[in-house]
Amino acid sequence: MTWIHSPEPWMLDTVAEALGLQRERVEHLSRHRTLRFRMYRGLFYALLRREVADYPEGTVVVFGRGWWRLVKGYPSIKRMVLPSVALPRHFLDKIIVEEKMNGYNVRVVLIDGRLYAITRGGYICPYTTRRIERLYGEKLKTLLEELGPEDHVVAGEVVGLRNPYTRYYYPEAPHFGYFVFDIFRGGQPLPPGERNAAVEKHGLSHVRLLAVLDKTDVEGFKKIIEALNREGREGVVVKDPEYRVPPLKYTTSHTNIGDIRYGMRFFMEEGRSFLFSRILREIFRAHEEGLEGHRLLQLATELGMAIFEPSLETVRKIAAGDLVYEEFEIEADTREEIDELLEHLAELGVDVVLAGVREEDGKLVATLRKMKDTAVQVRKILETGISPMD
Ligand code: ATP
Ligand code: MG
Repeated sequence: MTWIHSPEPWMLDTVAEALGLQRERVEHLSRHRTLRFRMYRGLFYALLRREVADYPEGTVVVFGRGWWRLVKGYPSIKRMVLPSVALPRHFLDKIIVEEKMNGYNVRVVLIDGRLYAITRGGYICPYTTRRIERLYGEKLKTLLEELGPEDHVVAGEVVGLRNPYTRYYYPEAPHFGYFVFDIFRGGQPLPPGERNAAVEKHGLSHVRLLAVLDKTDVEGFKKIIEALNREGREGVVVKDPEYRVPPLKYTTSHTNIGDIRYGMRFFMEEGRSFLFSRILREIFRAHEEGLEGHRLLQLATELGMAIFEPSLETVRKIAAGDLVYEEFEIEADTREEIDELLEHLAELGVDVVLAGVREEDGKLVATLRKMKDTAVQVRKILETGISPMD
């Protein structure tokens, strides 16, 4: 068990000092489990499960002997729905248009000569830590050592199909890839140009720089989005060249509708939480692009099919007595690594079972199944004929 249910007084003191909070406030946060304490490979740390006093969700305090280290949560990025309005209003002069990759956010830190991979929620993920160590360990270590490991954090997206969190296929990294999108120095992000130079120097990859535009070049921006949409890529994050204002994100219609299609397989879970936000994005896109007649009908059909096809397939499968679950693969060097991940997921309350392990190119590839509540709820609806909602 790696939870620490009753943190020692010195741990609470350390968090109070690191975050500049009153000791009573820290105790309160800990009692309500907003602040949680864990241990990984003998390293003790605390994490914030939601924003507290300007520290974003996923903020971590690592405890050492006589020292501590604060790793701020990755800040939330506001979303544009009308780029023609948002770009000129929000930015100052030039804009950097970077690719937004669809995976999961991982902050990498070097502590006492070891790399740790922290997910958005503030957990050190054993699987991600080991994969990143294995694939990029030396490069990340030399990068962080050169910059100064005490006050630098690398942030990037893990993409590809073999991970427990977000699976989306990228030809440049079909299974597992790490693409840096920020380097933080003392909590502040470096300008994208400086970041890219550091990343390239050490043979690592960064997200693609798509263009440097004038903030009023809405046509140029739209051309980029059209191309990404055709290629089935997620979208962009737009940054100020000097990071003087916060970035903004924008996703393609392909992704908005694709998310709905993907989420509606498990419509009582992801489907439900995805629907409205994605529809909102498409309403304003349709407005901005003046969609009417045939083109509007085409969008409506696409959206409708993204809602009904996957959900009906799920209902029909369950009605036929088939099991419905989410299946995915992960890769590991040893059996222990697989067990370590299963234990980690179980501790986070994720219901995952191991369906099989095979060998491939000197690695182990495990198939995992995540049980879905949608299956339970649909079975009940089929039995009773009654909706759980109004
Ligand atoms: P939030 O809305 O809080 O930012 P979210 O989990 O809903 O978070 P997304 O909609 O995926 O996130 O958008 C933000 C995330 O995009 C970042 O946290 C990061 O993981 C990811 N990302 C991918 N590419 C980039 C990039 N080039 N620059 C910054 N973030 C990127
Ligand atoms: Mg994302």
